Amino acid sequence: MDERSYSGMVFLGDIPVPSPATIVVRDGVIAKIEDEKHAPERWICPAFFNAHTHLADTVAMDLPCSGDLESLVTPPQGLKHRILAESPSDKLVTAMRRSITSMIRSGTAGFADFREGGVGGVSLLQDACRGLSCHPVILGREGGEEVSDGAGISSARDIDSYAEIVRRMKRDGKIVAFHAGEKDSSDIDAALACEPDLLVHATHAAPHQIRTIADAEIPVVICPRSNFLLGVTASADHPPVRQMIEQGVRILIGTDNVMFVQPDIMQEISFAYTVYQIPPAELLGAATAGLEIAGINHSIKEGNPANFNIFDVSDSNLLFSHDPVASIVKRSPVDRICARVFYIESKLLNII
Ligand SMILES: [Zn+2]
Repeated sequence: MDERSYSGMVFLGDIPVPSPATIVVRDGVIAKIEDEKHAPERWICPAFFNAHTHLADTVAMDLPCSGDLESLVTPPQGLKHRILAESPSDKLVTAMRRSITSMIRSGTAGFADFREGGVGGVSLLQDACRGLSCHPVILGREGGEEVSDGAGISSARDIDSYAEIVRRMKRDGKIVAFHAGEKDSSDIDAALACEPDLLVHATHAAPHQIRTIADAEIPVVICPRSNFLLGVTASADHPPVRQMIEQGVRILIGTDNVMFVQPDIMQEISFAYTVYQIPPAELLGAATAGLEIAGINHSIKEGNPANFNIFDVSDSNLLFSHDPVASIVKRSPVDRICARVFYIESKLLNII
């Protein structure tokens, strides 16, 4: 039996609340959380989960370009799709692996990727992940959905056969995820009619659609920096995050296209906090929830697999924080991560 313990100010529960404690990890599972009177100057925060990425477009990082959503990222002729089609496989694998490594360094232990390129595209991402301490959820398209965890459907308006794909995924017990509502609300009802497991964006969801999403308990992945950079929003009204939270929609956080946005969840929630003024604990909870439909939950509680980051605050200005959760969310202190304890399938994959 492998047993290790970690002490500090531990962010406990689904909506994280810091408390001095020791976490006892046995064979990769949090066996016990013991209250302490005093904690060392360390913050122990659940690992991040990036609920929406397109890792392959790392190859197009910061390519000088302009245009609207359609000309840049909409399949099949958007700029990024032309670049992906022209990129050799080994370059795509290396690029995705570098982005995954960067995610791990910034405290992310898992991600859900919309993988382009069919069956071959899925296999390249599987190659890119090999041996890394990050749990991939791969959502394919153009046949890739048959060999991965499910389907990542670019808007219902882009794909004629989406209903048939959804039928097959549900038959096979796989995940159904849709981009919906990114540039307007017109593709949201079609996605909702498919009873998806996950919606991405909902940037322009109307009040009655938010109600339906809440009632159907469909999690929504928001990608605020991507929305602003791609010009589909310019204000805190879109996506309607506060209304979604008020209505009880479960929010998750994604960074979307690596072409435009670094896949760093702490940067994403810092931006989201600044723009949308969501309570920090709600944002941190959204960024560390994992993905229930894939059986991933990073909350620090007994019985969960151990997936957390340890921040050394002993010689930093963070020691003066009156609210460690707010300070993680607002300040993105990636330089203070002194250890990542990520267990996948009861195997400790990474302590740095
Ligand atoms: Zn996307």
